Amino acid sequence: MNKINIVNVDYDIEVINEADDYMVKNNLQAYCDYNETKITISRKYIDGTIKTHRILIIDLLHEILHAYFYETGTTELNNELAVECVSMMMINQDFLKKAKDIIELI
Ligand SMILES: [Zn+2]
Repeated sequence: MNKINIVNVDYDIEVINEADDYMVKNNLQAYCDYNETKITISRKYIDGTIKTHRILIIDLLHEILHAYFYETGTTELNNELAVECVSMMMINQDFLKKAKDIIELI
């Protein structure tokens, strides 16, 4: 199983082929179990549609951010809006590159 170290805590990352019962019941694409230190993502949406590679990355990044905010005690950011904002900015690396380019020009 893949692992990722998040602030000195090893999280297992399990990629499953179909949405499991927990995902279906809670209408989730993926989830993070802080007690088990495990992230589970599904290759398919609940309706059975196969996710694109990019969506899998976004799903994983989303759960990593939940774990990061949890493990750092940044609970005020551990909500869907904040996690979506940060993951959107991380996926859109253009923002980061543009900021770097601007600073280098100064
Ligand atoms: Zn979330």
